Amino acid sequence: LAAKGVAQYADTGVWTSKAIKEAANVGIAYEVVASSKETSYDRIPEVKFSDDAAYGYVCTNNTIYGTQYRELPRSKAPLVVDASSDFFSRPVDFTDVGLLYGGAQKNAGPSGVTVVIIRKDMLERACMERTPTMLCYDTHASAASLYNTPPTFGIYLLNLTLGWVQEQGGLSAINEINEQKAALLYGAIDGSGGFYKGHAQKDSRSLMNVSFTIANRELEAAFIAESESAGMLGLKGHRHVGGIRASIYNAVSTENVRTLAEFMKEFARKNG
Ligand SMILES: *Cc1c(COP(=O)(O)O)cnc(C)c1O
Repeated sequence: LAAKGVAQYADTGVWTSKAIKEAANVGIAYEVVASSKETSYDRIPEVKFSDDAAYGYVCTNNTIYGTQYRELPRSKAPLVVDASSDFFSRPVDFTDVGLLYGGAQKNAGPSGVTVVIIRKDMLERACMERTPTMLCYDTHASAASLYNTPPTFGIYLLNLTLGWVQEQGGLSAINEINEQKAALLYGAIDGSGGFYKGHAQKDSRSLMNVSFTIANRELEAAFIAESESAGMLGLKGHRHVGGIRASIYNAVSTENVRTLAEFMKEFARKNG
């Protein structure tokens, strides 16, 4: 995104670090104005973008660490938002958003589709001098998203998922379900008497990714193995942080999460 003035970034982990690196790569003047790097990205830092910043960049849900903004920071500068891992999981206040994007593969559909929502007045800034035509958002906006052949089957599936969201009662209803699901797992962690330790600080906890460790780290391999035998896959934490991570996207039912919470309690009882 062509920057009039300095772009500001809130660094909350791997995804924002990658975005910052790309800003540097294409020669955007930028600064990092908030970061939780020093505490292993265990929280959402206080974020205040300058009114005259070109844009303020945030990642709403930090998939690997299990942190999430409760709400977007208010900002006079337009926000640029990576919502890959939590859009369609709750209502979003678009008041200050200039551009919001997300890969579909976590909550919305198959991999290969990225949804971009951009404010019309941002379009004229969406291209730098040597940006390839294909990478300019105004190219796609002026061609009604048909500049090239889009991944039609993926978009079709995305639409089916949106229909499903509506059937559930829309994003507020989905959000309520997600709150209940997350509460089951955080309850199991907080009620374990220190057997489990959550990675994220409480006020930054994600409703999508619950990252935790076992105080006795040697038990983690057994936890992964036993949960796998019980039919629960993909609980191994991301290689950046290790430990255990339960990703409880929209497709994971409350029943599924309850099964995991019960497993966690039982595992702690047996090994505590
Ligand atoms: C998953 C994710 C991405 C990108 O995912 P790919 O697997 O590389 O397509 C980007 N940002 C966030 C916040 C994510 O969770």
